[in-house]
Amino acid sequence: MNLILLGAPGAGKGTQAEVICKEFNIPTISTGNMLRAAVKEGTEYGLKAKAAMDAGALVSDEIVIGILKDRIAQDDAQNGFILDGFPRTVPQAEALDEMGVKIDKVVEIFVPDEKIQKRMSGRRVCLDCGATFHTEYNPPKQEGICDSCGKELVVRKDDEPETVKSRLKTYHEQTAPLKDYYAAQGKLVSVEGQEEVADTSRLVLDALK
Ligand code: AMP
Repeated sequence: MNLILLGAPGAGKGTQAEVICKEFNIPTISTGNMLRAAVKEGTEYGLKAKAAMDAGALVSDEIVIGILKDRIAQDDAQNGFILDGFPRTVPQAEALDEMGVKIDKVVEIFVPDEKIQKRMSGRRVCLDCGATFHTEYNPPKQEGICDSCGKELVVRKDDEPETVKSRLKTYHEQTAPLKDYYAAQGKLVSVEGQEEVADTSRLVLDALK
């Protein structure tokens, strides 16, 4: 089964992808994670991608389509996959079609912008061990300090309020048109993001039945 998770940044696609991955035993392919890894490693396309990512803009279709194509050719993706964060533009969706990739379903997780801004402004990450916290929903025991390794917690550059605003604008302008694209193919199902992650998961799994 080949699935796409659609939704604004911060709508909880990554978390739901983990749930679907366990339920159906198919890998999650996250272009955001692959790009962050490339930035960390300092590869050529990582260096090209960094400026766009820091500004809350999209990395070029050419780079992202190339990464995705290589990834879905790997062995573990042959029985299906969940795409998290791809496609993000109509040309990316068209590229998938041109590659002959058959998409079974597209699940949109809908969360209003105001809620996303609140969720993301409270997010704190440990750059050392990768643990994430939230000032309101999942606070660390000691403010500003990682429970796991004791290092300082920071606001990730792309979670800063101005960047979140740009990311949401980018989403509405460039990614939201994909809803019509996949609705026209009869593949779109929409789920409203709930306060509790488990409640959203139930709706997502129901939508996939
Ligand atoms: P994410 O973790 O999916 O929110 O992705 C983080 C950042 O990586 C985005 O804000 C974009 O700059 C970039 N990115 C991830 N996936 C794509 C994509 N499919 N097309 C263009 N840029 C992407």
